[in-house]
Amino acid sequence: MNTDKIISIKKLLKDSGDLRDSEFAGLEQKKTGVLRAGNSSLLTAEGEFIGQCPRMTYLRYKGINVEEFPADRKLMFDAGRMNEEIWTEKLKRVWPPSHIVREEETPTSWSTSNGVTVTGRPDLVLLEDGPEGPTAALGLELKMVSSLWTAREVFFQREPKLLHLIQAGHYMWQMNIPFKLCYTLYVDMAVTGWAGGVFPKKNQPLSEFCSYTPAGKISKILPFEVVYDLSFDRSGKLFYQLEGSEKEKTASLVTIDRIRDYYEFISQMDQKQRLPSPPKNLKPSGEKCSWKLCHYCSLSPVCSVFEAEKTQKYVENKPEYQEVSAWVSLVRGELKKRSMHSENKAG
Ligand code: SF4
Repeated sequence: MNTDKIISIKKLLKDSGDLRDSEFAGLEQKKTGVLRAGNSSLLTAEGEFIGQCPRMTYLRYKGINVEEFPADRKLMFDAGRMNEEIWTEKLKRVWPPSHIVREEETPTSWSTSNGVTVTGRPDLVLLEDGPEGPTAALGLELKMVSSLWTAREVFFQREPKLLHLIQAGHYMWQMNIPFKLCYTLYVDMAVTGWAGGVFPKKNQPLSEFCSYTPAGKISKILPFEVVYDLSFDRSGKLFYQLEGSEKEKTASLVTIDRIRDYYEFISQMDQKQRLPSPPKNLKPSGEKCSWKLCHYCSLSPVCSVFEAEKTQKYVENKPEYQEVSAWVSLVRGELKKRSMHSENKAG
């Protein structure tokens, strides 16, 4: 056996990842000037941004690529795609395969008041035959659970993630069909230390989805699927309800107007030159989350510098100060510095 000729799978995977990255970058470039439903968030009447960062949404809209995802994040994206494959395969056994459509086959599109296109791709849509042929009957937004804390919220506390409600609500508004938000946990998740205290104790409700030591201490949570039915009331407020539950629907912060206003704001940033405030991270009920997006954002040094600069400009009373352009030029400077740094490292 010639060991010089052993094929390196790691190299093949790296080459495959590089190819996918460049394909993705090409696709992103083509979508410059288009807003995406995947960035859905809310703008309240009080001017607060809730959900994803509106500044990041703007950069994506302008074709400025900030996120350099490390390999572990990319594996999670792979897992998300795998989740869609699994759901499609399962449904194909019980629903006509020709009547199950995936992302690219069922795009949504609308325009803001100044003509900017907002596009989206729901994960799965089931069609039913009608007098005019097959029509969309039900949309599914599929999420894979990959953290203990998400499992706790979406399954044990019976509360979906706000961002997922906003995104699914956006598709439901656009397609005008019912939607369901579906979470799946595929693996056992170990529960250790103090985390054990936040899950059901033995014999409590939902404890059948946990495993316990002979002494009765929780050791892991077990795989599950949980599905939420989504609906709007007459005013456009989004409600959610566990599928099959007799309990009342729960109201969320999400409204059609707030989603629309978010995109309207972003689409006008070039003209109005108003930089949006940092986003708030809230639960569907409006309760604050324990962490802030800015604390984990790679652009936080830029935003801190910008705040200081902006304060100075206002102190100097410069009405012509263009907030958005000033911030974008700080971002471009930071990205250039990072790319020189990584080139030097590679060299
Ligand atoms: S630091 Fe905060 S406001 Fe600035 S880009 Fe990041 S998330 Fe947005």
